[in-house]
Amino acid sequence: MKIITTPADFIAWRNENQQSLGFVPTMGALHLGHEELLKNARANNELVALSIFVNPTQFNDKKDLQNYPKTWEQDLEIAKKNGVDVIFYPDFESIYPDNYSYIISENDKSKVLCGASRPGHFDGVLTIVLKLLNILKPNRAYFGEKDFQQLSLIRGMVAAFFIPVEIIPVAIVREFDGLALSSRNVHLSDEGRKIAPKIYEIIKSAKNIDEAKKQLEDLGFKIDYLEEIWGRRLVAIFTNLTKTGNELRLIDNVEI
Ligand code: AMP
Repeated sequence: MKIITTPADFIAWRNENQQSLGFVPTMGALHLGHEELLKNARANNELVALSIFVNPTQFNDKKDLQNYPKTWEQDLEIAKKNGVDVIFYPDFESIYPDNYSYIISENDKSKVLCGASRPGHFDGVLTIVLKLLNILKPNRAYFGEKDFQQLSLIRGMVAAFFIPVEIIPVAIVREFDGLALSSRNVHLSDEGRKIAPKIYEIIKSAKNIDEAKKQLEDLGFKIDYLEEIWGRRLVAIFTNLTKTGNELRLIDNVEI
């Protein structure tokens, strides 16, 4: 398994390795959700690339960025186990030679839900994804439905700019009790971990949005948003039931 850290080196590698490439972009702290993306990529491409880059431009909250979990050794094991051929692991300077003065932004879908509560978040996401697609030139790129709004914006960007890549959606991977896997779940306290699966249970079974909101609030969650749009019921909540007592934001969604 090769590890490449600069855009120039990756572009050179890709020139020499022109087989079909499946690409899984991540911020590391890999879990079974990421593994599902890798498995899909492995099954349908000759080569598999994984990127690990905690992209600062998509964090509107500095603390969230500082506290983002890093598990490099474990990530390497997971990548090897899933047959990854090449890991792209750049640093900020190499991937933002412009120091983020060029920005991709979207003016409609990116302004609601996560975009409304995290200003600038999707600008950062779209900009880094465009850079990665231009560097890696994959045939297929895999994104989880866990971040449904992100997936839909990336599809929109690829269509808008005629980017020659196929975007493949992957269903949400959940814990045994229904909690959507997330790198941020490690921040939950024991008590938080116990009630977090209720988020899925409630959005799946509540008769309507008002009922779901009430049930979540009764459990002590603060609701960021809960809406039905794009054929999905999507939710973001805040909880204080964390190891440090700092507020944690979790998202989930189900098909309606
Ligand atoms: P992240 O490292 O959180 O930026 O996520 C990298 C990719 O993994 C994104 O496309 C996510 O949507 C996807 N992903 C994260 N968690 C899950 C999950 N529980 N199930 C499916 N995909 C996921």
